[in-house]
Amino acid sequence: MTTRLTLKTTPPGAPASYTAPTDLPEAATDGSRALVDKFGRVARDLRVSLTDRCNLRCTYCMPAEGLEWMPTEQTLNDEEVIRLITLAVTKLGIRQVRFTGGEPLLRRSLEKIIAATTALTTDEGGSVGTALTTNGLGLDKRITALKEAGLGRVNISLDTLDREHYAKLTRRDRLDHVLRSIDAAIGADMHPVKINTVVMPGVNEDDIVPLAEYCLRKGAQLRFIEQMPLGPREQWKRSDMVTAEQILERLRTAFELSPASEPRGSAPAALWNARGRGLAGKIGVIASVTHSFCGNCDRSRLTTDGAIRNCLFSNSETSLRDLMRSGASDEQLAQAWAGAMWGKLPGHGIDDPGFLQPDRPMSAIGG
Ligand code: SAM
Ligand code: SF4
Repeated sequence: MTTRLTLKTTPPGAPASYTAPTDLPEAATDGSRALVDKFGRVARDLRVSLTDRCNLRCTYCMPAEGLEWMPTEQTLNDEEVIRLITLAVTKLGIRQVRFTGGEPLLRRSLEKIIAATTALTTDEGGSVGTALTTNGLGLDKRITALKEAGLGRVNISLDTLDREHYAKLTRRDRLDHVLRSIDAAIGADMHPVKINTVVMPGVNEDDIVPLAEYCLRKGAQLRFIEQMPLGPREQWKRSDMVTAEQILERLRTAFELSPASEPRGSAPAALWNARGRGLAGKIGVIASVTHSFCGNCDRSRLTTDGAIRNCLFSNSETSLRDLMRSGASDEQLAQAWAGAMWGKLPGHGIDDPGFLQPDRPMSAIGG
């Protein structure tokens, strides 16, 4: 039996623009509800940005001088992050939590937040899957503690194996540190360690095959990502981005590729079996632009300053921080979160003539 949880009044502290949707599906009697949208998608995967700050300046993500970081008092403290993750898992059907940023390793309390997350039980009665997306700087020193806290999986970003290219691309000479961290993650049995590579025209296309060879040799799963319009403005052009098809063409110069048989589900990467140069393994390609997977998207995003975004490219968001800081109950927060997801659009519309880049950079939303 279900009962409708209606908020007769706007939650305390809600911005003037806040209106609870009137057609939101009902919550169960215990207040639990799934994060569904009008197109029937259900969010099970929460991306939590733990900081907007970063120690690299990847050209596709940030300007050389960095960004204006958010003042600490505007960002969620540990108790607030943990409260919202707990609500998401215990009342809103979230089953996986990925920590990202900015650079999540810059958050000193990362292990504490992961431990609090892994202590939760999902609606299916299982444990929460946890994952980290990181640039890898300093991961080698924390991998044991992170694993002890319950971290399940790790994605490390690496766009080239060439030291000069790396320094140019990230504006920091830190390639050795990342390679050390990849070895440490593999050594800690975080299987499979995934490597994220954004491919940029005229910058690292020649790195595609060497990166594939390196990952296959190490037993890491490489995933190439089409560059999206989320970094400094005017830098991304649809007409000269490197497409998934072009990435596959490059790979075929060195490897035989066949589609992997695993069902893809809501995973963004299309997986390929690669064989060649005495190596074999899987390589993923994430065609976020040319073959968007919006129809299967199961994500909800919590920004560093406590806003819910139902899509990376959304142009609106709902601040749970403001509601929380003015005394909203868990039920009020859950309803505001469900309302934010209910309004999710069917697709990101990058290819639409009227497409607008989101007002926040990816590092602030949480990539
Ligand atoms: N700092 C961490 C890192 O680099 O892994 C986590 C945050 S970063 C924003 C998350 C992921 O987004 C990284 O794999 C990064 O390569 C990717 N990314 C950043 N800007 C991008 C863009 N414009 N298009 C596609 N992927 C991007
Ligand atoms: Fe930092 Fe990650 Fe953005 Fe690179 S992609 S600047 S590592 S947040």
